[in-house]
Amino acid sequence: MIRPEVEALTQTVIDLRRDFHRHPELGFQEFRTSAKVAEFLKQCGLETTEGIAVTGVTAEIRGDHPGPTLMLRADMDALPVAEETDLEFASLEAGKMHACGHDLHTAILLGTARILMDMKPRLKGTVKLVFQPAEEGPGGADPMIQAGVLQGVDYALGLHLWSDLPCGHVAVTPGPVMAAADTFRVKIHGKGGHAAYPHESADPIVAASALIMALQTLVSRNTSPFDSAVVSVTQINGGTADNIIPERAEFSGTIRTFQPATKAALLARLEEMVPSLCKSYGTVGTFEFSEGYPALINNPLPCQWVQRAAEEMRLPLSTQATMGGEDMAYYLQKVPGAFFFLGAAPDQPERVFPHHHPKFQLDERAVPLAMELFLRCVENCLK
Ligand SMILES: [Zn+2]
Ligand SMILES: [Zn+2]
Repeated sequence: MIRPEVEALTQTVIDLRRDFHRHPELGFQEFRTSAKVAEFLKQCGLETTEGIAVTGVTAEIRGDHPGPTLMLRADMDALPVAEETDLEFASLEAGKMHACGHDLHTAILLGTARILMDMKPRLKGTVKLVFQPAEEGPGGADPMIQAGVLQGVDYALGLHLWSDLPCGHVAVTPGPVMAAADTFRVKIHGKGGHAAYPHESADPIVAASALIMALQTLVSRNTSPFDSAVVSVTQINGGTADNIIPERAEFSGTIRTFQPATKAALLARLEEMVPSLCKSYGTVGTFEFSEGYPALINNPLPCQWVQRAAEEMRLPLSTQATMGGEDMAYYLQKVPGAFFFLGAAPDQPERVFPHHHPKFQLDERAVPLAMELFLRCVENCLK
């Protein structure tokens, strides 16, 4: 199931991962990480291009025979989270943590590259390795594309280890996989005054409360039951004291959708509801919208390579979609590709925490499985 070259390299990859884990770096600050990545690739005999979109690194493994170019992508950034695990390789950087597994993604792709170098004589095509910054925000994929990393790329594959799935469980889904993640902010201008004389004011807190409740109907009443969407208000601010009706209140949140038409329809409803509902409370409501990562849509063909690899390895296989966002979506807007999940939940249930949690951890037994999956996908594509 796992080839001996992978078994032999697993400890090296785990050591690399633990080093990245001890030294997490936030988006566009991955200087130490990308230097280590470039150093390892050069030791493998690869030529690297560095400093793309600040810290991005790429390299190409050209097979001895002509064929398509398959891009394999890893993200390198950590999160502004203070680690609370008891791991001996826990973060040494205050307030920063690899709480999403990107340390593993980076190490796994390096190990995969090392083995692919010995497979060159039988590869029909090229593997392009892409190590990108800032997946957690503001997004490294789009600037990497602007810098030209997709030139000559025919297909793209990306992996996310997943703490919600049992170790070794593969989830790959043709079609929509992760949602477009957009944000909005509503500002309400009322008329402030004494809390004991509300009839002389226009209370923006009451208007905000009514509007937030009304927004709950965007999904339940304005979205097809056969489609998926989320509207969550996640911040609310207004007021300074118990006895003052404030002049202003504001709130903000996120909208998650898969279909562009659904996103446009929700946006249009928000644009109607905010001013009209605020007006009915004697206040003025304004609305700002900012676009985040687009929806991530997998192409069926590369999904088949992942499915075949998982079947050959006799790993449990399922489909999975989430309303989370992921900037791999930008590459998959341009080239056919697949983003897939490999379960890496720790065995002990008390060690399982969601991604981005201070106690988040993954099972390193997923490392050889991930490398083997990547290698088999390459073989399925460049055969
Ligand atoms: Zn994350
Ligand atoms: Zn992640």
